[in-house]
Amino acid sequence: MNKELIEFIRDHYKTKDFIPLHEPSFDHREEEYVLETIKSTFVSSVGTHVDSLEKKIAGYTGSPAAVATVNGSSALHIALKLAGVKHNDLVITQPLTFVATCNAITYCGASPIFIDVDKNTLGMSPTALDTWLSDHAYIDPDNLCRTIKEDKVIRACLPMHTFGHPADLDGLNEVARRWKLILVEDAAESLGSFYKGRHTGTIGTLGILSFNGNKIITTGGGGMILSNNSIAKKAKHLTTTAKTQHHFEYNHDEIGYNYRLPNLNAALGCGQLEKIEKLIESKRSLAGKYNTLFKNSSIQFITEPPQCRSNYWLNSIICEDQEQRDELLEFTHKNSVMTRPIWRLMNYLPMYKHCLRGSLKNAEWLEQRVVCLPSSAQLGEQD
Ligand SMILES: *Cc1c(COP(=O)(O)O)cnc(C)c1O
Repeated sequence: MNKELIEFIRDHYKTKDFIPLHEPSFDHREEEYVLETIKSTFVSSVGTHVDSLEKKIAGYTGSPAAVATVNGSSALHIALKLAGVKHNDLVITQPLTFVATCNAITYCGASPIFIDVDKNTLGMSPTALDTWLSDHAYIDPDNLCRTIKEDKVIRACLPMHTFGHPADLDGLNEVARRWKLILVEDAAESLGSFYKGRHTGTIGTLGILSFNGNKIITTGGGGMILSNNSIAKKAKHLTTTAKTQHHFEYNHDEIGYNYRLPNLNAALGCGQLEKIEKLIESKRSLAGKYNTLFKNSSIQFITEPPQCRSNYWLNSIICEDQEQRDELLEFTHKNSVMTRPIWRLMNYLPMYKHCLRGSLKNAEWLEQRVVCLPSSAQLGEQD
């Protein structure tokens, strides 16, 4: 299987050189927008591209509003603040995620609680969430969800759409509502992924996207907060140093952040967003081929959950066991094809190992078996 895999990947990308896991693709359009931005001198926090990128992302995702930020991590930080997360609060998330998810919780002075994921979606399991809350939490007279033992407020629930595959949002929404938790979606990896026709990141009260260099589209570094209009207004205020509106005076009414996406980065993003559907088409076609390749093997290719359209940002497989996984990783690396195991679970990291958690059986099982495969999109010659 390993040899066949290398042959397949080399044939697909038509190169004998090193094949990365994911690389961005640019053409004339991005060059044109970036150059024009440099010439205009509006390279920083004010400019037409940053406003335009917000409008286009809102339009594409169907979100009432979108606020651009310097990266996905800062978007998450502000989203959690606007969800009301305070010092000493708790926020429920999944152990199978990129560390930025947990770090954002910590930036608010809160701590994560780790709840297991579904084996099918790789996202937070609504059943595991409800079970843990039933055993460990109660609703106080002020309608706040609190832990029984520590009597701390659990303010929000932060699931993540792993590799672009939507989590079970109906299930999570229902449990979060019942337990008075604000649902915030980490949709950093899932631009272009839809759950029952609705874009990921628009179903919770807030959602965030990332435009880091390894994501499906990039602004170099960048992110976006998705929310309704009144929350977006606060998000814009907080991410622009909480400066009050005035044509020349400097006045700030709270501690804000310098988190606004520069116009130069937004210019790149506007060019990228124009071809998002082509990128997804290319990725979905590659996913289909990977799926066929693994059909009669002991390896399971991870496909989009039912009633979802996934962007297949990173194609990934589940090996039979850790031994098979390690062999595959070694073999591909020796053959200059980049593959990666999934993240170390958050509850094993030194800064998060003391956090509350439920049974993490599925996350542990997946951690030993999942491998990400080369997933760059290929766009034909364009002008
Ligand atoms: C990329 C990513 C982020 C953070 O985005 P940055 O733009 O790199 O700060 C957050 N969460 C997840 C799951 C990610 O994959």
